Amino acid sequence: MAASIGKCSISVYTPSCCSFPPLHPSEISLIRLKDCKRGIVSHLLKNGIRSGMKGEADVFSEADLICKRVRLFTIEEAFTVCPYHRDFLGVHWRPKTSCQYPDHQGNAKPYRSFNSLVSKRMVSEFGTLVPIGSGICRKCHGDYLNLPSSIGMIGEAQAETDIEAWSCRLRTRKTETVIYEV
Ligand SMILES: [Zn+2]
Ligand SMILES: [Zn+2]
Repeated sequence: MAASIGKCSISVYTPSCCSFPPLHPSEISLIRLKDCKRGIVSHLLKNGIRSGMKGEADVFSEADLICKRVRLFTIEEAFTVCPYHRDFLGVHWRPKTSCQYPDHQGNAKPYRSFNSLVSKRMVSEFGTLVPIGSGICRKCHGDYLNLPSSIGMIGEAQAETDIEAWSCRLRTRKTETVIYEV
C-alpha cells in the first residue's frame, strides 16, 4: 500500500476521508473526474434514478454521479477523486434503508428515490445534503409537494416525475419491505 494518497478535491465536500478501498487494489492514485468513465446504468436502475433508457437521464456520467452525490450540480472535470470516494460516492454507493427526507418521522419505508432536482431542493429548503438515490416515504413525498416553494413552481404532474420510483429496487432487493403500487 502506498504511504500516502493525499486528499482529493471531493474530500472537501464530504466528512469521509480519502483512502484506498480493497475493491480495486490496482488503483493507487488520485484521478481527474474527466477520466472517470465506468458504466453507471445498472447502478442508476437499481437505485431508482433515471438512466435515460426511458426519457431524459437524470445522471449522465460517472463524474456527474460523483459530483451530484456531494451536492455539486455541475461537473467539475478538473477535480481529483481518490479510489475510496470514487467507489463509495459512485457506483458502489448504497442507500440507507430508511426515508431520508429531512423532516421524516415514524417508521414508514421509502417508496421512491431522490433525484438530482429534489436533492438540490433539500439543500435550498433545509440546508441538508440528501444524496441522489436515497429513499423517500409516501408521507414525506406529500410534504415535499406541499412545501411553500413548491406551490406555483411545479404542478402536480411535474412533481410526480421529480421523484423516481423504487419499485425496481424493491423487486431486485427481495427485502421484506412492503411493495407499494406506484
Ligand atoms: Zn477522496
Ligand atoms: Zn419519510
